[in-house]
Amino acid sequence: MDISRGIKPWKLNDQRNLVFVNATIVDPSKGKLIWNATVRISGGKIIQIVTDNSTTATDDLPGENVIDLSGKYLCPGLIDCHVHIAVVPGEADLRSYKHMTERVSLLRQPYVLKSMLDRGFTSIRDCGGASLAIKEAVEDGVIPGPRLFIAGYALSQTGGHGDLRGSHNTQLCCSGSISGISRIVDGPAECYRYTRDELRQGADFIKIMGGGGVASPTDSIEHVQFSDEEIRAIVTVARNAGTYVTSHSYTPRAIQQAIKLGVRGIEHGNLLDLETAKMMAEMDVFLTPTLITHVMSKQMNFLSADGAAKNEEVLEKGLKAMKLAIDAGVTVCFGTDLLGPMHFAQSKEFSVRSSVLTPLQILRSATVNGARLVMQEDKLGQVQEGFVADLLILKGNPLEDITILDRVEEHILAVIKDGRVTTSRWDKVKVDL
Ligand SMILES: [Zn+2]
Repeated sequence: MDISRGIKPWKLNDQRNLVFVNATIVDPSKGKLIWNATVRISGGKIIQIVTDNSTTATDDLPGENVIDLSGKYLCPGLIDCHVHIAVVPGEADLRSYKHMTERVSLLRQPYVLKSMLDRGFTSIRDCGGASLAIKEAVEDGVIPGPRLFIAGYALSQTGGHGDLRGSHNTQLCCSGSISGISRIVDGPAECYRYTRDELRQGADFIKIMGGGGVASPTDSIEHVQFSDEEIRAIVTVARNAGTYVTSHSYTPRAIQQAIKLGVRGIEHGNLLDLETAKMMAEMDVFLTPTLITHVMSKQMNFLSADGAAKNEEVLEKGLKAMKLAIDAGVTVCFGTDLLGPMHFAQSKEFSVRSSVLTPLQILRSATVNGARLVMQEDKLGQVQEGFVADLLILKGNPLEDITILDRVEEHILAVIKDGRVTTSRWDKVKVDL
């Protein structure tokens, strides 16, 4: 008897070998299609891509492992670089989430993860709230879900974007205490300590609340949060551990403060100006806009009256900022930042972006650029020999019409993660899970 099967009975079987023939590969890196390709997958990796018909013998494989992709497109799996899987569906507005416990959230997270996978997201970066426990459950095969890169709890100052207490709440909160998806830290000493503690508890990178936010009760969007000393402490710890810091920042002032101190990523960035965009491009800082969350918050009346007013301002400016950033040469990633009942709208970010960006710019943001941000550019985000087999089989060409990725049921025929078919809407492809 295989003892390891008893210890981890949920362990997935080894991946079957798959061969896609007559595939049209979508290459977001070069921005072109590769026609008539044979793609071999083994052990979860893409082991061979052949584009000349002479060497496509597949006699050694059972029929169901050879899939004819004539007329279909083979695209890299998508990467959403800003999600919060811990803010699960179940309540209608943000206020109600104050009373949701981590236990309730954790039991609902598998639902959130599976639905993201079904939408074609094979990797996600969680910017606050996700735990090592859920990440390991996915890696082990206990539950299906996208590959996770997690920040643990986001770090916020007292009264900052992560502090959920209202103005009339007189309860003092002690250092490092957890507030929703954040942890409250003040002063360099606490910043050193709790950054180290997030890394100890499995954070892949560190997220800070570097400025005011839409959903927080006692700060304004214009506020800069954390002092230079505090950010410097956090960046030092992250760098020492071989990783990076990303900052929730809307305004040029907050963005400039963060990147001058060594922060590598900016989240949202809706109020970005040209000077700051140029600076970001020069310093190779990533921008992850999250526009759909503003659209949906408005449509679904998710925020308080104060929050709704702040939301209105940043929604309008966000699209312009993203275009400005791309034109200035900033590496832009795909993010959604959807909370609670809004997760279903994840793929609508593609349509929102399509009003100002080209299909190639958008597909790059959700593949190669995201892979660079999570420091996996040699493994994820492309259909290349040696890369992880995270793939989508599409009915149409996303370089022609990116909004097909927003019409999931119709256009995403299959999702393959780690060489296993996790989702199929096509009878020619059988699900492996
Ligand atoms: Zn967020």
